[in-house]
Amino acid sequence: MVTSGVYTSALEMFSIGIGPSSSHTVGPMRAAADFVHYLATRNSSETATHYTIILHGSLAATGIGHGTPDAVIAGLRGMNPETCDPKEVWGQWAQLESGAHIRIDDAHVSRDDIVFEAHVQSFGHPNAITLIADAHGVEIARATYLSVGGGFIQRAGDDDTADRRGKGTPGIVSTYRTASQLVAACKDDPTSDTFNRSIADIAMADEVAIRGAAATCAGLDHIWATMDECIEAGLHQEGYLPGHLRVPRRAANSQRKLLARTTPVPADEWLAVWAMAVNEENASGGRIVTAPTNGAAGVLPAILRYLVQFEGISTQQIHTFLLTAAAVGSIIKANASISGAEAGCQGEIGSACAMAAAGITAVHGGNPSHVENAAEIAMEHHLGLTCDPVNGLVQIPCIERNAVAAATALTASRIALLGTGKHVVSLDTVIETMRQTGRDMSTRYKETSLAGLAVNVVEC
Ligand code: SF4
Repeated sequence: MVTSGVYTSALEMFSIGIGPSSSHTVGPMRAAADFVHYLATRNSSETATHYTIILHGSLAATGIGHGTPDAVIAGLRGMNPETCDPKEVWGQWAQLESGAHIRIDDAHVSRDDIVFEAHVQSFGHPNAITLIADAHGVEIARATYLSVGGGFIQRAGDDDTADRRGKGTPGIVSTYRTASQLVAACKDDPTSDTFNRSIADIAMADEVAIRGAAATCAGLDHIWATMDECIEAGLHQEGYLPGHLRVPRRAANSQRKLLARTTPVPADEWLAVWAMAVNEENASGGRIVTAPTNGAAGVLPAILRYLVQFEGISTQQIHTFLLTAAAVGSIIKANASISGAEAGCQGEIGSACAMAAAGITAVHGGNPSHVENAAEIAMEHHLGLTCDPVNGLVQIPCIERNAVAAATALTASRIALLGTGKHVVSLDTVIETMRQTGRDMSTRYKETSLAGLAVNVVEC
């Protein structure tokens, strides 16, 4: 029997969108846009005159801090995360007076038409959103979507999308589902110690099968360019991040301090500044590359900038980094989760750190066993990490957490490259442990802001 592989294209894994959250901002925007598309293409002459939106579980618990209602309105207006102007998204719902309406073509939505059901985990998933369209009070369509992490959505009860769970991008040619299978696929002879191809080679074969080499390379270049633009944007913003916490932006000032030093600055110190620059942009709703989520979007760009600026890696090595990271992220996504609402922060920051560690190791000449070892080390030391964003904002602990994870990724890669690639704990074991730990973790620590730092940090 031929099994389907799990590889998610790097161009999907690293999708370009807006902050602050892939699951709570990007996913709901895509769900609303998909619902409008469904309404427009179904075989009916009825036109929606009014929408009701129900946010369930974590989407309701931290939706306001994550900008979910504004993102849903933007999606209903037909905007998509990749091309929208973030300035046109924010405030549409948040600044609406009670009783006032927003017009969307022939329909309207009032502030109270977005309903928050924070204590109801429905449809077997912590992040569900139900969209209802009516025509003059008579319901004409309803759909529920699950925002499953990384901006990916699935329609609840839809066999087509349900079938995609645990599967890769349509069109892939690889069949691996686990890290051990991926490493084995890098050899012609599984019993030999010789590798005949890299993990990036296998990922590239899938990408070529999906859309061809030229379009893939152009897409990877665009991803890196957008990541780098995001770092630069973050390095040139001052002031405070949105929200009641009054968290100051630190990246720009940190850069000034490093540049003013009269002694050499260790390259590693820049990692923290670049990671924070990205996540400050994310927290303020700016243009961001989901990698693999928005909350964890600073880790991979910081490492790539490090490799580009201090090691002068080539365009092809940038592709190797992104493809290797995407392959590792695909295995985690398929066998555990990359969603903070499903697995806690180990699923977001832990996954980003593992993906980054894998990418550096490949660029630094590690073989597939070294790559697997580096990802395993990086993930292992994030096991149990909870998600407890203060005030429901993707700021504390998220921003600093990216900076720390970038350094950890570098350390994990260095440890792996000093070894032979043989090690006791496999990446598959750590991913399964992450899945079980996430399953056993209290919902209070999974992007609901009901415990941890979220309740112990007192607002001034
Ligand atoms: S604590 Fe971690 S998982 Fe939770 S929102 Fe922040 S970065 Fe995401």
